[in-house]
Amino acid sequence: MSNKKVAVIGAGLVGSLHAVLLAKKGFQVDVFERRPDLRKADVIGGRSINLALSNRGFKALEMAGIADEIRKMCIPMYGRKMHDIEGNLTYQPYGKENEAIYSVSRGGLNQTLMNLADNYPNITYRFNHKCEDLDLDTNTISFTDTASKETVSYTYDHIFGTDGAFSAVRNRMMKTPMFNYSQDYLSHGYKELVIPPNADGTHRIDKNCLHIWPRGEFMLIALPNLDGSFTVTLFFPMKGDTSFESIKTGEDVMKFFNATFPDAVDVMPTLETDYFENPTSTLVTVRCSPWNYEDKVMLMGDAAHAVVPFYGQGMNCGFEDCSVFSEMFDANDGDALKLFEDYSNQRVPDGNAIADLALYNYIEMRDLAGDADFLLRKKIERKFSDLYPSKWLPLYSQVTFSHIRYSDAIANGDRQRRIMDEVMAMENIHTQWEDDSVMEKILSLVE
Ligand SMILES: Cc1cc2nc3c(=O)[nH]c(=O)nc-3n(C[C@H](O)[C@H](O)[C@H](O)COP(=O)(O)OP(=O)(O)OC[C@H]3O[C@@H](n4cnc5c(N)ncnc54)[C@H](O)[C@@H]3O)c2cc1C
Repeated sequence: MSNKKVAVIGAGLVGSLHAVLLAKKGFQVDVFERRPDLRKADVIGGRSINLALSNRGFKALEMAGIADEIRKMCIPMYGRKMHDIEGNLTYQPYGKENEAIYSVSRGGLNQTLMNLADNYPNITYRFNHKCEDLDLDTNTISFTDTASKETVSYTYDHIFGTDGAFSAVRNRMMKTPMFNYSQDYLSHGYKELVIPPNADGTHRIDKNCLHIWPRGEFMLIALPNLDGSFTVTLFFPMKGDTSFESIKTGEDVMKFFNATFPDAVDVMPTLETDYFENPTSTLVTVRCSPWNYEDKVMLMGDAAHAVVPFYGQGMNCGFEDCSVFSEMFDANDGDALKLFEDYSNQRVPDGNAIADLALYNYIEMRDLAGDADFLLRKKIERKFSDLYPSKWLPLYSQVTFSHIRYSDAIANGDRQRRIMDEVMAMENIHTQWEDDSVMEKILSLVE
């Protein structure tokens, strides 16, 4: 199979990594990207946008042989730092000591993956190629060359659609029989803002954690960048009394932020300008199945499973798509149809599970992260997990620090939640949570 010609459509994070893993197996890989080469063009208008990279993502980067280089571009975040309205801080570690999620520049990561591809003579990048349609009988893809406006077509043995949440490849598959699809917008959208560095280039707030300002219906988060700045994201209703729609003037912005996120305003001197210069974007969950069409086409990354960003897993799941495909390819005896079908059957439930987990974590981050009962629940869970690590791995750790399938993690998490509901209903739990009886109760429920 591996001497075949394959196309990867979309040179985002997932397509750029998948191309390298396919090239390592000997495929002739053509990568098509509708935008210009982001190493030469200013694609995001100069703003620093970052993401949290964690274990699942690193596993695929290790397979590509680039994990160490990427680690040097990252800032570890060992926990969440919650800012309440008075500016009081609460810290919650993400996992065990030294377990962290890693803030990395989206553009920097994408560029590094593209540079890695330059080492492979069997990878060819074609920029300014916008996929318009696929002929699924002949496996021919038609593109508009966005520079010359000409239409060009190419034929491949296998096509991988890594063209993001609004995938053109998926659009074509939607016209095939028995293809299931759903798309759900969140009522909240987001806007990226900035905490600039101090004059000496240092960070204005603790750089080794993910900062959260949880306020029920609204939430602000901040992730550190290597240049001393933080990328701040406001998650906010799109419509309503207090929403992106209702905030119209600079005065509205400052009034809302001063009342809701006062300690953040202190470190955001360009807030008013950034608010109006930076776009407001929407958040969508996309589910579909199957992800393959025969052994001709496979969807991966956001094209297969766009999820809301609250578990920091969209890219990590996309990278895991690549590592799982690579492992299943190695275990397959050359039967491409079986490989494509088995892969889709295995991955679709995991894509759906991370979509559900991400929606749930939205409530946890904006609401529960500032709630005393929730923080106590987490403290008790952590104590039990430290005492009996083989009996209890917190859901967050299963998702973020392990390679347990997302669909298994969600089932384990449901079981843990039912146990903790019983524990939190114990009499005087708030004052006596450190008693041995609490650990004994959990042990009996687990066993
Ligand atoms: C606010 C926000 C924060 C996030 N934070 C995190 C995080 O902390 N951790 C995490 O793991 N994930 C995070 N994510 C999710 C992550 O950004 C995505 O899961 C990831 O970018 C998906 O990569 P992809 O390559 O599948 O798709 P994309 O990154 O969307 O790349 C798709 C590529 O295909 C190209 N393309 C599109 N259409 C065509 C076409 N017709 N022809 C040719 N090319 C085309 C696009 O130009 C693009 O280059 C976040 C997402 C958002 C919105």
